[in-house]
Amino acid sequence: MPTKILVLGDGAAGTIISNKLRYLIRKENAEITVIGNSKYHYFKPDGIHIPLGMKDYQTSVKKPDYLFNYGIDYIKDTVTKIDVENRKVDVSSGREYTYDYLIIATGDRLVTDEFQNFDSEAHHFYSLEASLELGKELSKFNGGKIVVGPSSIPYQCPPAPYEFTFQLDRYLRRRGIRDKTELHYTFPLNRVFTMENVSERVQDLFDEKDIEYHTMFNLESIDADSKKLVSLEGDELDYDLLILVPPHKGQQVITDSGLADEQGYIDVDRHKLSYGNYDNVFVIGDATNLPISKAGATAHFESEYLAGKIASEVSGFVSEEFYDGSVACTTVTGDERAFTLYFSYERPPRAMYQSKLDFLLKWTSADTYFSAMLRGVM
Ligand SMILES: Cc1cc2nc3c(=O)[nH]c(=O)nc-3n(C[C@H](O)[C@H](O)[C@H](O)COP(=O)(O)OP(=O)(O)OC[C@H]3O[C@@H](n4cnc5c(N)ncnc54)[C@H](O)[C@@H]3O)c2cc1C
Repeated sequence: MPTKILVLGDGAAGTIISNKLRYLIRKENAEITVIGNSKYHYFKPDGIHIPLGMKDYQTSVKKPDYLFNYGIDYIKDTVTKIDVENRKVDVSSGREYTYDYLIIATGDRLVTDEFQNFDSEAHHFYSLEASLELGKELSKFNGGKIVVGPSSIPYQCPPAPYEFTFQLDRYLRRRGIRDKTELHYTFPLNRVFTMENVSERVQDLFDEKDIEYHTMFNLESIDADSKKLVSLEGDELDYDLLILVPPHKGQQVITDSGLADEQGYIDVDRHKLSYGNYDNVFVIGDATNLPISKAGATAHFESEYLAGKIASEVSGFVSEEFYDGSVACTTVTGDERAFTLYFSYERPPRAMYQSKLDFLLKWTSADTYFSAMLRGVM
């Protein structure tokens, strides 16, 4: 009997791991089934370019059906219950799926209703629809005060808000309205980024580009009448245009299945990526509560380890591999430059050298993503 491998989620993590597994395990030895409910597969990193008219969104989306390698069963459905005790998963169409191995890769969700007035006041670039809306709003903007920042932690791709701010600075300069615009950045910690040495570098760039920053700014409320943000620390910041990363939470099904922490994320072993005492249940991508970046690159490195481990076990070997927290992240610093951060649980990142080449890497990353990374060949 072939081993049944069930993957939940058809985003970055679910697609990468299933394609990698298909490369490593012969079809007669394992059935690989993916259940996912996305309408399209959107390359989210392009969200920092699309609202600024730098990229046509159509190059950033693909139909998920075409992204799975031959020999993978892709089921379009919504998972409603995960029962790890009895090794089964329910979906909204009423079917039930059993498994030998379960990989949960359901990502997270944006919960804009956590703050009153968020939907009416704030714009963002964390979904395709919101990025296109923000693009329309920016094209009408002719000067004033723009505030950008994350509304809470954790959120996907920690550098994305400052990357967007650097790109926005350039966009405003190109339109000739930078001198009529005040650009402000807020961050909930006592520096402008989570990692100290990267934060110092980003702060220098903010100073260079005349971007004002407000640290220890944890959003408490949005006052729509006076167009003002109020922080938990008691500070106030007014705005003409507000661009806030929405609050994030794990998926509802994770909470409904009793697998979640308070924020809806799953607690996993940091090296094995396994859940609780179950040696056949794994979680990858944004769905975990690991203290590392919620990033496609994280999903890529996690999949590298996990696909190897499961393929070894299916072939009767014992795998000694583990995940070391590796992440790589190319982050834009404006003016067609970027730097790449490599780090892991034990190795902090260094962010000293900006280059045009790194920017090119980021600029073309949708192509690399769809043609190679998602396909499991890198
Ligand atoms: C603006 C922005 C910029 C970014 N930049 C970068 C970057 O430069 N580099 C980088 O590495 N990362 C970046 N990221 C982060 C990266 O996109 C995410 O970390 C990555 O997509 C996470 O993959 P995932 O598979 O865990 O989640 P997702 O890609 O969100 O996939 C989750 C999937 O699960 C499906 N799903 C959810 N619930 C259910 C259910 N109940 N039933 C069935 N299916 C379900 C969803 O439809 C979705 O397809 C960025 C993100 C944003 C928003």
